Amino acid sequence: MRVWALRLAAVGAILSASIALFSLPPAGVETLAILMVGAWLLVYWFLRQEAQHQAQLENRVKTLAAENEVQTLDFARLRRRFISFAEGLPIPILIGDQDANLRFVNHTAYEWFGYRPLTGKSIIALTFCYDLYVLYLHAVQRRYQLTSEIVLSYPRERHVVASIWYLGDDGNTPLFAVALLDKSELVRLEQVRRDFVANVSHEFRTPLASIRSLAETLLHDGAMPPETRERFLQLIVQETERLARIADDLLVLSRAESLPPEKEPVDLAPIIRSVVQQVQGEAKEREVTIECELQEPLRLLASRDQMVQVLLNLLTNAIRYNKQGGHVWVRAAMRDGFVVVEVQDTGIGIPSSEIPRIFERFYRVDKTRSRDTGGTGLGLSIVKHIVESHGGRVEVESEYRVGSTFRVWLPVEESG
Ligand code: ADP
Repeated sequence: MRVWALRLAAVGAILSASIALFSLPPAGVETLAILMVGAWLLVYWFLRQEAQHQAQLENRVKTLAAENEVQTLDFARLRRRFISFAEGLPIPILIGDQDANLRFVNHTAYEWFGYRPLTGKSIIALTFCYDLYVLYLHAVQRRYQLTSEIVLSYPRERHVVASIWYLGDDGNTPLFAVALLDKSELVRLEQVRRDFVANVSHEFRTPLASIRSLAETLLHDGAMPPETRERFLQLIVQETERLARIADDLLVLSRAESLPPEKEPVDLAPIIRSVVQQVQGEAKEREVTIECELQEPLRLLASRDQMVQVLLNLLTNAIRYNKQGGHVWVRAAMRDGFVVVEVQDTGIGIPSSEIPRIFERFYRVDKTRSRDTGGTGLGLSIVKHIVESHGGRVEVESEYRVGSTFRVWLPVEESG
């Protein structure tokens, strides 16, 4: 404004001086001409100043525009980085507004809840979990982080720790993030541990209770006939043996679970033959015949002791759950990079509804028979654990009252 006013004043002065030039005497003309030149110089100086000022302004505007562009690019880059970070997280991340309407759902969340177009829809439409919705609204009210354990039921039951926190505003809309941490496996393991402790104490309590009552009877009944006394003492011995067997099997199982197998190059064929030899006495007692069909050699990398344990458990079961005069076949061969060992019997078989549970610890189909034959209910869980720790698997085929086949697949690894 100031520049324009001065410029106008200067132009005005020059114009009025020019008009006066023609109406003045010669002496005044000279003075006025000097004044006019001065005035023109002044105008020229003002115009230059103004042009420089204009150029400076234009440069400043250009710099600001460039800075703005850089900031926009930085912001876009930051946003992309945040999205790929959230997308890559192995836990579900949801971002929503103050009404619990979704703005962002990461890949894992879609994997959990199923792929549906959800942006703008309520958190309930994704998770079908009212508790999570209520927790979210509490976090919205309080604007600080809330964490709580929640059970999701869609699409399957999951025990999660849900954390919700305020992210900041997008324009006038406050945004909140939700992270869900799956602890279902921990809950399951905790349940397994609790069941296991309860089972172990139950397994120990039963023989201990009978030992105690037998011992008390022996103690208080001085007039007990010698044959009854001997029978009671034999029962005490049997019960202590049972306790020892449970303790031994628990030890074997815990060792197999806590340590990786100490593998060495072994030939399974002679190991099978020696285990068959070991159980021949019991088989004869029960009038069960064992036949072997072995391919030789059957070389693989495995823990020798654990292989003996697996074969012993499968063979004793095949004998103990057999019929009198029954048969057991042990077959072993190489197949598709595996050593496959098959133990087939003509025994009592397993009802198909029970098959999925027989590898559970302490699970017995026929409790009385298992107990009478000295079973602990741990044999097959030991087999499964050892075989799986060798990278293999166990299969069962069984027909109730006809017989069972247990098949073990052990991968052949190259030594060295
Ligand atoms: P146990 O010490 O009782 O034999 P296992 O874990 O070895 O425990 O087996 C679990 C249950 O599976 C047994 O109690 C038995 O009911 C059933 N079972 C295992 N092997 C056989 C088999 N060959 N034939 C029929 N039933 C079997």
